[in-house]
Amino acid sequence: MANEFKKTMNLPKTAFPMRASLAQREPERLRKWNENHVYEQLMKKNEGHDTFVLHDGPPYANGPIHIGHALNKISKDIINRYWSMRGFQTPYVPGWDCHGQPIEHKVETTLGSEKFNSLPAATIRRICREYAVENVDVQRNGFKRLGVLADWDNPYLTFTNDYDAADVQIFKAIFDKGAIYRGSKPVHWCKHCHTALAEAEIEYGNEKSPAIFVRFALRDVPAGLEAFEGKTDVIIWTTTPWTLPANAGVALNPEETYVAAMIDGRAEILAEALVERVASIAGWEDVEFAQTAEGEKWTATGSDLLGMTYTHPIFADYAGKFIVADYVSMEDGTGCVHTAPGHGVDDYNAGNKFDLPIIMPVDDDGKLYKGEGIGTGGIFGGLDTDEASPKIIEWLKEQGTLVAHRDIEHSYPHCWRCKSPVIFRATSQWFVSMDKTGLRQTALEAINNDVTWYPAHASKRISSMVEGRPDWCISRQRSWGVPIPSFTCADCGETVLNDETLDAVIALFKEKGSDAWFTDEPASYLGDACECPACHSHNLKADKDILDVWWDSGVSHTAVCDNRPELRRPADMYLEGSDQHRGWFQSSLLTSVGAYDEAPFKAVVSQGFVLDGNNRKMSKSLGNVIDPNQVCDTQGADIIRLWVSSVDSSSDVPCDMEILSRVGDAYRRFRNTLRFLLGELEGQFDVDQMLSVDDLEMYDKLVLARMCQVHNEVTAAYESYKFTGVYRTLYDYVTELSNGYLNATKDRMYCGGVDSHERRSAQTTWAYILNMLIHDMQPILAYTTDEAMEFMPEGLKEGQEYAALLDWFENPMDEAMVSELLPVYEEMVEVRSAYTKAYETALEEGVVEEKTTQATHAVVSAPEKLVSELQDKVDMAEMLVCSSVEFEVSDELSVKVVPAEGVRCPRCWNWRPEAEDGLCERCHEVLADMEK
Ligand SMILES: [Zn+2]
Ligand SMILES: [Zn+2]
Ligand SMILES: [Zn+2]
Repeated sequence: MANEFKKTMNLPKTAFPMRASLAQREPERLRKWNENHVYEQLMKKNEGHDTFVLHDGPPYANGPIHIGHALNKISKDIINRYWSMRGFQTPYVPGWDCHGQPIEHKVETTLGSEKFNSLPAATIRRICREYAVENVDVQRNGFKRLGVLADWDNPYLTFTNDYDAADVQIFKAIFDKGAIYRGSKPVHWCKHCHTALAEAEIEYGNEKSPAIFVRFALRDVPAGLEAFEGKTDVIIWTTTPWTLPANAGVALNPEETYVAAMIDGRAEILAEALVERVASIAGWEDVEFAQTAEGEKWTATGSDLLGMTYTHPIFADYAGKFIVADYVSMEDGTGCVHTAPGHGVDDYNAGNKFDLPIIMPVDDDGKLYKGEGIGTGGIFGGLDTDEASPKIIEWLKEQGTLVAHRDIEHSYPHCWRCKSPVIFRATSQWFVSMDKTGLRQTALEAINNDVTWYPAHASKRISSMVEGRPDWCISRQRSWGVPIPSFTCADCGETVLNDETLDAVIALFKEKGSDAWFTDEPASYLGDACECPACHSHNLKADKDILDVWWDSGVSHTAVCDNRPELRRPADMYLEGSDQHRGWFQSSLLTSVGAYDEAPFKAVVSQGFVLDGNNRKMSKSLGNVIDPNQVCDTQGADIIRLWVSSVDSSSDVPCDMEILSRVGDAYRRFRNTLRFLLGELEGQFDVDQMLSVDDLEMYDKLVLARMCQVHNEVTAAYESYKFTGVYRTLYDYVTELSNGYLNATKDRMYCGGVDSHERRSAQTTWAYILNMLIHDMQPILAYTTDEAMEFMPEGLKEGQEYAALLDWFENPMDEAMVSELLPVYEEMVEVRSAYTKAYETALEEGVVEEKTTQATHAVVSAPEKLVSELQDKVDMAEMLVCSSVEFEVSDELSVKVVPAEGVRCPRCWNWRPEAEDGLCERCHEVLADMEK
């Protein structure tokens, strides 16, 4: 509908484009940020202020970035951008985890195992380093594109000389306290990768295993069964038949009752509570029980049977022993647990208590040793553990000792790299003791007393992991990592490791990096320390094990936070996915507590995983992977950033194309609001025209009070790292604005006198709202707010060119005024919703015919208090976008809508009493002023 008065109106104009075209525009803006060193400017701006150190957890330098990386890095960027606006200096040094098995595995796969095994360690390490460097570049470009501000040119990489030296410095600190030892203990072992694995390198998945019930013949006669003349056995249960050659004992529950079932004339001991279950599996019918001489059913507790011996199931000349353990449950099996201390942690601990030997007949390849007698595989020697299981079952059957066999499906540990099932195997490894120096206790105290956890329940999760974890196995039998700095005397076999050798190794690594370990002779760098304390030989050889890669990333508190002058230890914050409770959070905590008796972080934010829209893991085979690079190239990084803020990342979060498209809709709402506000401000207003808050129209004051409330909520949400609270609050707010205040003040803006008080008052309010939105959204919509700022009135820019450099928004009203005005604003909102309902009814019933609220008159009946607060004080008609409002006192709030009197003004389309020239009085005056 053309309006002949268009030229006389202040219609919106802004060059801020409606179409975002983020995919095209963002890269240009990013280039500008880089060329003008926005990160460095940011550091400069807050120089000398308090620092906020968010220490970056290093992603593994392997492959392009995925959506989980995006969630991680954007969350960190939001936090840094927020604290920076609050005046903190926020140095952010990104890092990469560059050592370790995933890279070495990749190189082995590329070269082929044969070639790989023929190369010297130094060459393998060079190829691994090249691979890591390439991948760091790929990931760095991806992270930059997401709009993350960081010291990208000076990241930390875990293979640099300083870093290698820090690995050994921390080793020395913990070694000196007495917590590092070498021992033979069962650890997760991958026979394909030929290495020990830490709990953090294990993935659990379902596996089918044979569960077998086997009878072991007793050598002793249990008390009470002396009169029984037949054979007595114990029935054990195991799901790893290949560990039977390593059997050393049978564990019983000390408290539970055991009985002896009479089967084929033999007395078979098992837990009373499990008889029925075992009977149904083994096909026993009408089970009878062995009796004492007195004719009573024979029973004994596990404790009663402690120490009794039996004949080894495979090596008949070897005797095993009954022990007791609380973990023996009555849920499965027979209550009599096959115990092989060389192949299980529980078995090892229980075996230790009762002096069972650690029998370990399996080699690095997972093959049973050839030979005769205990400690070898016997007739199963040379077989792989997987091959051995069926053969052993077959053999037991032939011997007549197999009671039952069925396959079960259960959760089983797998290698994180090659995905094969792992085995437990006792080998000589280096460990950090959790208890010798009180590491476990001190770590738990730090978790509970010194660290703030977001969400709060994350502290329980890591506490229970630290409480229950075994000693930390820190040695790996690979090449790509930092060596365990120990030597062996070539003459007497003594392990040589002391402060002097450690200091020499630290100096060596600082100078030449850990590569020198593999090329230089110990005598060349150990100097006087090159001496065996046992036999005084000078012939020392460098050992071959390397440190667990989690040790590498764990010591970043020293290698990075201590060593970089702009950072400090402890850091203010670590933020990672919840899997890091057993990974980086824990290895950082343990190395820091171990070396310094304190946590490396003051606060930890833990986030969930990104799943698809149906809560499934993302995987190539399901075709549900969201690639952040691709989203940047089509929808823009700000869409991913807005998505990050829209989800509750304290638990797992969903993402798919449909979700991103909804985020795109929300984005447009934010963008349109900014554009709408700019339309009456860009080139039409600046801060010297701003009215003081006291001079504003009452409606504008009330709306500002509401804006202050929203800003306070947003601030609180940022401070508690609840980005979803920021998103929700701002999204609801812009919705509220466009349906309410911005729509209602259009008339004043477009049709009011260009510099009339009413219009300046509205412009002042719009300017505050625009400014507040730009500030509050900057940490999230980094690109868009920066773009919008170009079009903002100069005076609002704080002399800055980039939105990241703005200081945090300050409310234009004091809190007392806000709390005084808010209730009145809420009353207006209440009246408005009553009006809206009444208007719809009036339309339906044909009471009003014009399809515009401007053609209505509203009669507001309300309690006296409300009437006295609104009547004659606020322009209620403006808020309702109707012609006029009258108030009546009554008990309850109700609104009646009737047709407005007067006619429609052809300029502003409000229904008003007609003035001269057919216009309303206001428009008449505005035009008359313009002609002056
Ligand atoms: Zn493996
Ligand atoms: Zn020696
Ligand atoms: Zn008019």
